[in-house]
Amino acid sequence: MGRKFFVGGNWKCNGTSEEIKILLSLLNAGQVPSGDVVEVVVSPPFLFLPSVRTTLRSDFHVAAQNCWVKKGGAFTGEISAEMLANLRIPWVIIGHSERRALFNESNEFVGDKIAYALSQGLKVIACVGESLEQRESGSTIEVVAAQTKAIADKISKWSDVVLAYEPVWAIGTGKVATPAQAQEVHLELRNWLQKNISAEVASTTRIIYGGSVNGGNCKELGAQPDVDGFLVGGASLKAEFLDIIKAAE
Ligand code: PEP
Repeated sequence: MGRKFFVGGNWKCNGTSEEIKILLSLLNAGQVPSGDVVEVVVSPPFLFLPSVRTTLRSDFHVAAQNCWVKKGGAFTGEISAEMLANLRIPWVIIGHSERRALFNESNEFVGDKIAYALSQGLKVIACVGESLEQRESGSTIEVVAAQTKAIADKISKWSDVVLAYEPVWAIGTGKVATPAQAQEVHLELRNWLQKNISAEVASTTRIIYGGSVNGGNCKELGAQPDVDGFLVGGASLKAEFLDIIKAAE
């Protein structure tokens, strides 16, 4: 109980330095609930992470959008968890559906990545979610449970993990899950944690929803008992992100 509301903004592969400057001014000037009520993390592309970290208001934090699965070395084009820790980037998003689908990241690979990032002192936003086909065939819970199990098999430090339920059919489509659909899966995930990890982990782990969250739908979604916040894509690049943060109130 007492889970602090969490709002993450995933900027994905968007933004020029000029656009990011404008977005930062907007975020830095925004009135939002205090850090006792909501934890806010924004995730710019790697290149902008250090400058965003230093320019962003001190009550918001930053996340990388990915990191390598093990210690750095001869892995051209990758960024290691050690590098993120070295630059004091506290959070990393792992297992986003775009990476699972476009870069063939398997459940096991995602589990390994999360375990390694945690071992380097990073906190992780771990994403799970079913495709439309999987939902329509009735296997949503089975799919997200298997994704969660592949993570749980590799980690024990759940206190540094936020679990993001992001149905693939809702990401970037404008087709948001209904509050009841989100609540149903979040409750199933919490029950899964209770049964397979512990009552403590189940009651303290934040389970956030992602998929076409906006200023208009966030209040009702955020009011669901097992929805502990959001991972926001498109709307995190706009002033609307501030309204979404206010759903914590
Ligand atoms: C996301 O990419 O994590 C996401 C939820 O995107 P959107 O809000 O644009 O659907």
